[in-house]
Amino acid sequence: MIQLRQRIAQLLTTERPGDDSGDTTSTGTISQVPRAGRDLLQIRDVRSRYGRIQVLHGLSINVGEGELVALVGANGAGKTTLLRCISGVQPASAGTIMFENQAITSARPAARVRLGICHSPEGRQVFGPMSIEDNLIMGAYTRPTKDIAPGLNEIYDLFPILREKRALPAGTLSGGQQQMLALGRALMGRPKLLLLDEPSMGLAPLIVEEIFRIIRGLKQRGMTVLLVEQNARAALSIADYAYVLETGKVMLEGRGSELLANDDVRRAYLGM
Ligand code: ATP
Repeated sequence: MIQLRQRIAQLLTTERPGDDSGDTTSTGTISQVPRAGRDLLQIRDVRSRYGRIQVLHGLSINVGEGELVALVGANGAGKTTLLRCISGVQPASAGTIMFENQAITSARPAARVRLGICHSPEGRQVFGPMSIEDNLIMGAYTRPTKDIAPGLNEIYDLFPILREKRALPAGTLSGGQQQMLALGRALMGRPKLLLLDEPSMGLAPLIVEEIFRIIRGLKQRGMTVLLVEQNARAALSIADYAYVLETGKVMLEGRGSELLANDDVRRAYLGM
């Protein structure tokens, strides 16, 4: 496995500048097709650490307007940390994060929500004792009061089960319904960029299919999505573009379909 990874890395990588711990970031691009549209999010050489432990080692990614971009890779590769750096709940210790050509690297999380970056976090993190409707309203805290009722209606049209159960505590929902709630809460912020962390985690296969159908629907409606997924096959099959992360670095990038079709990539990085 290691030899295979090294061979792919030799074939596909180009050197990038090193980080403050002396590491280097190598990326390989297998796509021959240029990406369409203007960049909504540009991340350059971002590093991040938990205390003394550096977990992102100079990552660079782009997300184009209207694209569905997936981040895949093994546990601990840094996918969640990167999403947290983008939403601002985890600081980037170096590098730049640009959103709509504006530097937001040091902006507070609420300011990023106001700009249109909304995060549906890993583990859903719904507020169990609060009603479903109040959970949704929490997601609209940056929007004017007059927008809340129409926003709720849109979410209830998307997820009718939430309308039906809107007065119940969120903790009474099943895992799949809680995922819909977490997604709905993020959508209540009217995102230009939706950060979606592990939406299929812990869900039964049929529910996973339903969640992915919803994500495809959001993309068809023009939403830009950055998706983190352990279920690499499902993520790559709907992604316009994808990055394979390994130990805090981008190892490979390409169109979702190209990564999915590449036997070496499947064996070395995706466990397929
Ligand atoms: P997973 O699918 O397991 O969440 P991931 O690719 O999303 O994997 P991260 O959650 O970003 O990876 O974790 C990257 C590294 O940072 C891991 O080694 C993890 O143990 C470590 N880490 C994550 N959160 C913290 C934290 N709060 N404090 C210390 N280390 C952390």
